[in-house]
Amino acid sequence: MIKSCYIHIPFCNNICSYCDFPKIYNMEKYRSKYLDSLEKEIDSIYKGEILDTIYIGGGTPSCLDINELKRLFSIIKKLKVSDKIEFTIEGNFESTTKEKIDLYKEVGINRLSFGLESINKDNLLFLEREANKEDIIDKIKYCKEIGINNINIDLIYAIPNETIDILKEDIEFIKELNISHISTYSLIIEPHTKLSIRNTKSIDADVDSEMYEFICKELKSLGFNHYEISNFAKKGYESKHNTCYWDNKKYYGFGLGASSYIDNKRITNTRSINKYIDGIYRLEEEIINNHNEIEYEILLNLRKNTGISLINFKKKFKKNLLDLYNYKDLVDKGFLILKDDNLYIPESKWYVSNEIIVELLEGEY
Ligand code: SF4
Repeated sequence: MIKSCYIHIPFCNNICSYCDFPKIYNMEKYRSKYLDSLEKEIDSIYKGEILDTIYIGGGTPSCLDINELKRLFSIIKKLKVSDKIEFTIEGNFESTTKEKIDLYKEVGINRLSFGLESINKDNLLFLEREANKEDIIDKIKYCKEIGINNINIDLIYAIPNETIDILKEDIEFIKELNISHISTYSLIIEPHTKLSIRNTKSIDADVDSEMYEFICKELKSLGFNHYEISNFAKKGYESKHNTCYWDNKKYYGFGLGASSYIDNKRITNTRSINKYIDGIYRLEEEIINNHNEIEYEILLNLRKNTGISLINFKKKFKKNLLDLYNYKDLVDKGFLILKDDNLYIPESKWYVSNEIIVELLEGEY
């Protein structure tokens, strides 16, 4: 049963140097046609399930003007939701006006996710982003005043020429904001981004790992629970929507470049705005057989601090996970911990989690 839905709004007022997401310049000529096509896509696929999470991501959804946002919410209103819905919208501070925040509150949005990335001037210049401290403090204060307390900030680290002192500046600012959730990303130079075209080199791997450790230590001292490799939350504010991905559950994904996991298919939508507007939504489909599903289960579950529940695994696949893979060597080396019902990667080894997961999957009996 599907309980989560992602909706992608691809428009951005500015294209950041590192960006690899499905996005386009915020051109008026596309926006209304895009919303028309989004509505048709939802109408043709959604089967009326009651949803526990809706996540509007981007792009920059807050780039839509107030009337376009109202139109978007009138489309989303067709989705049935439970009374415990987690309803998130992403945005940047520049385009999230108080009028839009009021609208969010009115339509039931109860979680906001802001792309801040950094407050340091050199970092912002490098990322080709803007941020104004006073404006950010004012908007966060306003969200809280009107009762939206579940707020995430995205932070990027390991930016070339960044030092631990610069990172400290970002953490200090985040501390001042007193928010409930932080998602962190080490800067990756993805192909076809402006950074890659400019031949930018990544920061040294040792510095990257030192920064990751620093973030983990600092955020934990501020009372955040490090519940997933890249995510930190105050108690009770863990993202339910993203947890659905890490729990390998099914979900809808609507919009340009969006991904879905429906029935036994992982589907990726087109990144071409013209095709999307013409109603040619799908780019590719991966059929998930039982073996693939087990691999996804391991790969995704091991991102969480709770790892894989052996009981849930047995219920779902009618097999014992421990009979399927050679986990013992990894446990002996301290890369995996087997405790009670759970098999998980200890936080001290999360930095090398990809290598651990590959080794586990390669040790299939
Ligand atoms: S990083 Fe976010 S805001 Fe920047 S261009 Fe990409 S989608 Fe838009």
